[in-house]
Amino acid sequence: MEYLYPKYFYDFQCEAGECSDTCCAGWKIAIDPVSLKKYRKYPGFFGNRLRNSVDWETKTFDQYHRRCALLNEENLCDIYIEAGPGMLCKTCTRYPRHYEEFENLREISLSLSCPAAARMILGDKEKLTFETSFRKTPEEEYESFDFFLFTKLQEIRDFLYERIQDRDRSMELRMAEILAAGHDLQSRIGRKQLYEIDDFLKWCRTKAFQRQADKKFSAYQNHPLEARIQMRRMWRRLYRMEVLKPEWTTFLKYQELRLYHDMSLDEYRKACHEFEEYMKDQETEYEQLLMYFIFVYFCGAVYDENAYGKIKLAVVSTMLIREMGMAVWLENGKTFTLEDQVRIAYRYAREIEHSDPNIETLEAMVTDEDLFRLDRLLKGLLGR
Ligand code: SF4
Repeated sequence: MEYLYPKYFYDFQCEAGECSDTCCAGWKIAIDPVSLKKYRKYPGFFGNRLRNSVDWETKTFDQYHRRCALLNEENLCDIYIEAGPGMLCKTCTRYPRHYEEFENLREISLSLSCPAAARMILGDKEKLTFETSFRKTPEEEYESFDFFLFTKLQEIRDFLYERIQDRDRSMELRMAEILAAGHDLQSRIGRKQLYEIDDFLKWCRTKAFQRQADKKFSAYQNHPLEARIQMRRMWRRLYRMEVLKPEWTTFLKYQELRLYHDMSLDEYRKACHEFEEYMKDQETEYEQLLMYFIFVYFCGAVYDENAYGKIKLAVVSTMLIREMGMAVWLENGKTFTLEDQVRIAYRYAREIEHSDPNIETLEAMVTDEDLFRLDRLLKGLLGR
């Protein structure tokens, strides 16, 4: 079995009691059947406490004041302390590691929803690279795994990484480019013309392609009103999602007013430009965000052939997180630190990525709704 992971993967360390927003609070932790069996049999006083802390019907840990019943006052896990790490359930053992499974390949990432992981992901100024390792395991054979499509998706993903990490271009242009390429690649995937992909990628890597793309992109510049409307509509789509923490909705509503109600169009536009300028030295944070979303989700298109939807999901998420960043920057008197970025990103990831209905809804929206058509996204990106 081959394992693929980002270079920082093994540097991760849980902050445990020092964590600013522990993962053991705020959401229900699902317990796997093997752990449930172990909990049923665990002896002594702690065994009784353990069994009394499980909701056997929903197969999750009970919560008190939205905190896991086994999380103590020092923000440490009593299962870990009393019974050892071997007694942790699968969710707690793995988190914040995230696994994507493919035939004979496992891709592992750190979830953005963990503040410590988000700090590593976003704070890295170097271009992200990946490492592989191999472990001897029995060969896997998935019943219907389209290996040819998968290799094409891997090639496309390498191309997307190149574009995202092209630091000679602005973030807006990089996002516009991967959207435009994704749009054209999807039609080839839809028509089952995978053999055309190599030539298309070759063409996308030429200077002539970039010149042609830039010419087309220039038509989307200077549409501030449409750009603002687009951003606000995308923002408002977040209210359709299931909510994990009510404070999230409060944050969204409060910042929505700041950006789209309390400011005139001119003030908004000026703030966009000032914020862009302010973030010049921190632009890598958006590059890392995009890399994260593309790495985690893109190759999943082997199961649904929706490659373009996955690119849009990555770009729309990055655009929204950036817009939230601008609101917080305004709120903070025009300052914005890595910690501000980390806080927005991990909260977004908790709300959107860690709810199956939410991530599915977002992907369905960006795939099907007119609001997320290429021309509209380009106006939202480039129009300000
Ligand atoms: S959110 Fe991350 S750093 Fe915090 S307790 Fe959980 S795993 Fe550790």
